[in-house]
Amino acid sequence: MRRDIVEIKAKSVSGFVHKAELAVLAEKGYVVEAKMTIYDYALQYLKDFPPADAAYHNYKETTELLNTLAANNPETASLFSAGKTVEGRDIWCLRLNTTEKGGKPSSKPGALYIGNHHAREHLSNEVALGLAAYLLEHKNDADIKKYLQTLDIYIIPMLNADGAEYDIKTGKYRWHRKNTRINADKTIGVDLNRNYDMRWCTAGASHSPYSDTYCGTAPFSEPETLAVKKFIEARKNIKTLMSYHSYSDLLLYPWAGLDTPLENEKDRKVFEKLAKGMVAFTGYKPEQASDLYVATGDTTDWAYATAGIFAFTTELEGGGFYPGTGIIARAVTNNVKAAVYLLSVTDDPYKVLR
Ligand SMILES: [Zn+2]
Repeated sequence: MRRDIVEIKAKSVSGFVHKAELAVLAEKGYVVEAKMTIYDYALQYLKDFPPADAAYHNYKETTELLNTLAANNPETASLFSAGKTVEGRDIWCLRLNTTEKGGKPSSKPGALYIGNHHAREHLSNEVALGLAAYLLEHKNDADIKKYLQTLDIYIIPMLNADGAEYDIKTGKYRWHRKNTRINADKTIGVDLNRNYDMRWCTAGASHSPYSDTYCGTAPFSEPETLAVKKFIEARKNIKTLMSYHSYSDLLLYPWAGLDTPLENEKDRKVFEKLAKGMVAFTGYKPEQASDLYVATGDTTDWAYATAGIFAFTTELEGGGFYPGTGIIARAVTNNVKAAVYLLSVTDDPYKVLR
């Protein structure tokens, strides 16, 4: 029999034994106060990216970085929770605005950047975090300074924090896409980018809970999408939105849920111009989202249809969900440039037509 004793206290010991040994110990008069499998024991300590991908930020590291950015830049940045996930994690939002902080409304034109709707798309969190860090590092550059003073900028890097943690918590990637809602049939997760209330679950989405594109039991059934809904409804000043996903080297704009072009020709031209302006920095292909595939209930269709927001989806580069750490710097650098371009038009997106 093998026993690995980890700790000896006055009246107890803890350690590892084979489960057959528990009976032997009981015969000898020992009492087992508590036990767990070695797998569960290991899980408590893993919950992180594989060592080779340690540069990626898990939820705790994301939270710490956002707190540090806010603490180091109190005149510009503030951090607040935009809501709670299914498992009760805070959905952190970093706000960059030189006059208003936290949840206070602002009449300045607003821009919203969201990462990690989909759990395994960890690069999208890195790009959003990289954008936050860049804007604060360069807060005294003339152009950035102007945006920080005249705009109301919000960055939610990790919307689906539960899913992102679930994806890494065994120390091996699980290829998890959805949130961690336990469905009626015990399957896990709703596709947050199919859960918005725009042509909900009519195409490119599934009513089957086991599906990777499960749309949920109703529009905005999930606390994560509901948080975005409430966020946007409470902030009528938001003019532009970028939702980061990976991967495909694409820049997408509405409609996602219809395979016909946007009916409003003026707005369609604005979308096309802005897309062109952004892909000049990323090299991604700009197209109407439904050119990739028709998918209803996504963020951008809802934000545009409901609030008139010029809302885009970036499908980042990398050729896979787990492209390694070598890609982070370039993806951040180029997408930050595109994001700053979007800031340059957020005061009045229609100006690109003039
Ligand atoms: Zn995605």
